Amino acid sequence: MKPEKVAVVTGAARGIGQAICEQLLEDGFHVVGLDISSVDWTQSERLSSYQLNLCDAKAVSEVVNTIANQHGRIDVLVNNAGITRDALLQDMLEQDWDSVIDVNLKAVFLLTRCVAPTMLEQGAGSVINIASIVGTDGNIGQSNYGASKGGVIAMSKGWAKELARKGDQIRVNCVAPGFIATDMTKNLPEKVIQMMESKTPLGRMGSVQDIANGVSFLASDKSAYITGQVIKIDGGLVL
Ligand code: NAP
Repeated sequence: MKPEKVAVVTGAARGIGQAICEQLLEDGFHVVGLDISSVDWTQSERLSSYQLNLCDAKAVSEVVNTIANQHGRIDVLVNNAGITRDALLQDMLEQDWDSVIDVNLKAVFLLTRCVAPTMLEQGAGSVINIASIVGTDGNIGQSNYGASKGGVIAMSKGWAKELARKGDQIRVNCVAPGFIATDMTKNLPEKVIQMMESKTPLGRMGSVQDIANGVSFLASDKSAYITGQVIKIDGGLVL
């Protein structure tokens, strides 16, 4: 029997991360969800989870060692956990700058650094980083968030070159969601939501499943010749 493929997904407790986990379970992966909150939305023999702060380098290293020892492989890594601390430039607190860069950028580095040796040993793997259209096009009040996501995109392109340079089939891509209905966006005023929908050629907010579908493609062999790319899933919002 072929060993079960393993996918590690961060920010798995809710929102886009939960949808990604559900999709990858449907695709046949054993899914390991990582989150600072408990991952308690389902019970499945093919889902395991660990509660940790992804900014804690020691905890990240310990969890990755545990996963690698237990499963002997990590085929897919989805760096999805992220936060926002929005403010206009002149009002942005240093603490809000630091926390967004720490979670959205540094934690992606910390986790991928620990997972890369297992993928290199296998000679294959797919790293999928959830960026944002704010990381390519910027947004008012989100300079910290845009910098973190822009950093993720640049870092991913570098890793795409670096991790494949000895012939390993390790692919690194980004998914850049547009305006997606999750807890992150649920408190926006109705007026803002309507304005964003009217600016979107496809005329609606994205769903978490729209993002999970893109991740499913990048996790599969159907995307075997795609690396270093940023796939915008935004209904055409940024064109
Ligand atoms: P969400 O609903 O806020 O979920 C994010 C999850 O990540 C939460 O469970 C959160 O835990 C966890 N998390 C935060 N900091 C963490 C840390 N230090 N260590 C471990 N886990 C941590 O977010 P989402 O809307 O699903 O967004 C997921 C990703 O998509 C993010 O990277 C986001 O930037 C990106 N994105 C979202 C949108 C959108 O419109 N929603 C658009 C573009 C990009 P707690 O909240 O319990 O602390």
